[in-house]
Parts: sequence; C-alpha cells; structure tokens
Amino acid sequence: MAQLGEFGLIERFFDRPLRDRNVALGIGDDAAIVQVAPGCELVLAVDMMVESRHFLPGADPRSLGHKILAVNLSDMAAMGARPRWALLAGALPAFDESWLDEFTQGLFGLAEAHGVALIGGDTTRGPRNVCLTIAGEVPAGEAIRRAGAKPGDDVWVSGTLGDAMLALAALQGRTVLDDAAMSSARRRLDWPAPRVALGQSLRGIASAMLDVSDGLSGDLAHILDASGVGAIVEVAKVPRSAALNAKLAGAERDVALEWLLAGGDDYELCFTAPPARRDEVIALSNAEIGLSLIGTVTSDAKQLVVLDESGTPLPSVPRAFDHFA
Ligand code: ADP
Ligand code: MG
Repeated sequence: MAQLGEFGLIERFFDRPLRDRNVALGIGDDAAIVQVAPGCELVLAVDMMVESRHFLPGADPRSLGHKILAVNLSDMAAMGARPRWALLAGALPAFDESWLDEFTQGLFGLAEAHGVALIGGDTTRGPRNVCLTIAGEVPAGEAIRRAGAKPGDDVWVSGTLGDAMLALAALQGRTVLDDAAMSSARRRLDWPAPRVALGQSLRGIASAMLDVSDGLSGDLAHILDASGVGAIVEVAKVPRSAALNAKLAGAERDVALEWLLAGGDDYELCFTAPPARRDEVIALSNAEIGLSLIGTVTSDAKQLVVLDESGTPLPSVPRAFDHFA
C-alpha cells in the first residue's frame, strides 16, 4: 500500500501495546498465540461488513470501526461469553490515512472499553470491506445456546427494538423524524451498544438466547427451530422508543410494525427463561438497559404467533431481513 507499505500500515494503525497477559504472541508473527483460562471453552464468531451492503459509501469510518466490533461483541454476549481477542481482516480501495485513523479510533475505543485485544488480521487492497473474528471465553458447558427453550418459559428482550431501521428509513427519506428523535435513532444504527455484561449475567438463568441482528421475528424463530418449540409474543409488550411508538400509533403503523418486529440491526438480546427465574431476570434490568417480558414459549413446534394490541393474531408476521431472499 502506497507510501507506508502494508507492514508499516499494520504497525502504525493496528499494532497496539497489549496489556493482556494471556496473549503469548500478538501481531507480527504468522499467527497469534493465546492462553485460554483453565476450565473455559473458547467461543468464536466472525462478522463481515461490505460497502453498499452493510454500510453506505462515505459512511463515517469511526462508526464503522465501532460497529464491526460491536456486532461481534453482540454475538459473544448472545452466548454468555466474555470477549477477549479479535482478528481483523480488511480490504481498502486505497491507503487513506485519515480514514484509517478514524476507523481505528472507533475500533479501539470499543475494544478498550471491553478489554478486547486485537491480536492479528489481514490487510489487502480491494473493494472496501471489514471482517472481524472474535474469540471469547465461557466456563465449560455454560454457553447459552439457541436450543434449550422449554414450553412455559418466558420470552424476554433487552432494550428497545426498531430504532436502527427507523433511522435508516429516515436517512433514505422514507419517513420523517424530528432532530432529537433522529439523533437518538441514528445512535442506535451507527453506534450499537452490545449487551456484553448482561449476556454473561444470564448464564445459568436463560434457557436459550441470541442477539437480535436480523429482526425479532426471524431471530426468535431461530430459537424456536433450534429448541423445537413455538411462542406467542404480544406486540404491546415489545419495547420501543417514544419515536417509534408514535409511528406505530399513526398512519405509518404497518411499516412501523415491520421496523419493530423485523427491522434488524438492533443488537439487543432475546432470551427465554423459566418463570421461576423471573425475579432474577428483573434484577438484571436497570435504567440503562431495561428487560421486557414479551411472551411465552409454547409446545406448538416452530409456530410464532404475534398478537396485536387487541389480542388478535397478526395474519402474517413481518419477516426478518435475508441477504439471499
Ligand atoms: P501472513 O502473510 O503471515 O498472513 P501478514 O503479512 O498478512 O501475515 O500480516 C503480518 C502480521 O500483521 C500478522 O501478525 C497479522 O496477523 C497482522 N495483521 C495484518 N493485518 C492486520 C490488521 N488489519 N489488523 C491487525 N493485525 C493485522
Ligand atoms: Mg496475511
């Protein structure tokens, strides 16, 4: 890559001093070496973001650096794992110092907040995309999977849903928001806050869990498929911002319902837990991240029923985003 060269670029932008004593070897060799804590399993995930598909050309590089790590941290949260190490692969159309500077500010800002060390990667020239692999730890056997929901379990969701898609719709001129609503919805789209601590706190409590990245209805369906159960969810109980609530009550109701139930990019946690654990779940709810009881698991295999505000089942449940649909 131009002036600095590939290795100069890596050294300057990505090779940061590590405080993590479990990293025996970081950036600079053919591979990294880490020591997993005794009694823990390694939990691995990868997520890629491609220009024009996951972000618009000209997107703020700082939020992109944040988001590529955030979506991976959200996968760790969804397993109840503690995120530890990351590998970053990326293609850049050209060496752009200020782009890299801002991208790494966003990336390392969030990495430091979560004690995640960048220990390797791959850098090449090409159409802009970033791909991050995350490694985390979980006490052996305690990871929270999608399979495990039982009939009678409560269905919970953290935070609020739908604002990221509300922001995208507003950015694309499909709806209108006032300035305050726009800036808070845009924060949800560009600066997602993965529920990492909450995910770990739910170990031993949640019977099944995932993060809502493609929209509640489709993602919850994954839990139902994996667990061989069904669920009834009440629209009225699905948490949403005041701005989205206003849309739901108005002329844009149908599309607002899609943003809420099938929008995606929420990065909240959806989980099931036995009613006997309700007090423990409620104790994890706080002013910053509320937890909402939105429904019940049924024995009606793979059936997701969504009730509207009057208790009538929606004739068709809005479906989640699918890149290949
Ligand atoms: P190799 O040819 O063995 O794959 P590279 O020359 O691609 O190694 O990379 C040299 C070192 O820099 C490796 O340790 C690699 O993990 C690291 N690295 C390359 N690109 C990045 C990146 N974008 N972020 C972090 N580390 C990187
Ligand atoms: Mg390489």
